[in-house]
Amino acid sequence: MLPTRPAGPGIAGIHNVGMDNLQPARAAFPTEDYARTVQRIRQEGQCFICRVVDRTHRYDHHIVYEDADTIVFLNRYPTLIGYCLVSPRKHVENWALDLSEAEFLALQSVVHRVARAVAAAVPAERIYSLSLGSQQANAHVHWHVAPLPPGVPYDQQEFSALLKDNGILDIPEADQAELARTIRGHL
Ligand SMILES: [Zn+2]
Repeated sequence: MLPTRPAGPGIAGIHNVGMDNLQPARAAFPTEDYARTVQRIRQEGQCFICRVVDRTHRYDHHIVYEDADTIVFLNRYPTLIGYCLVSPRKHVENWALDLSEAEFLALQSVVHRVARAVAAAVPAERIYSLSLGSQQANAHVHWHVAPLPPGVPYDQQEFSALLKDNGILDIPEADQAELARTIRGHL
């Protein structure tokens, strides 16, 4: 299990002390850098997840799992330890309309396997699962699989626990790599 650190300074004005006691120190989400990167990739007629798939993204994402149709990697900006993104390899933007029922169920089968592997790798009271994304940012279909650790106060659970505005976990790359290997080992 990854070591946790004592409560960090947190983000000004955000009451995340309970979270900090359970997770590594937090850093501010680089909102402007992220927006610039996403816009640059879009202006190049490309897609962030397609670049992860074909390994042309500038940041070397920590791949957890791949098969012929699916890729799973750690969230580069995690708000919870073990936060994975599960995505079809092919570029589709609307999971309800662009995926057949068989393709959707195959994707969810991977989501289920990954959720179990994440729960085996890190303490998890619940595993959140949801599809977000944006036509103005990351349009490629992806599923968030995010484990809530035990003991998080109720008012810091659910969307509060996922919100990048509350800061992202400052996890060293070596620890992320180890975490990816650990989750993969439970698949
Ligand atoms: Zn794509």
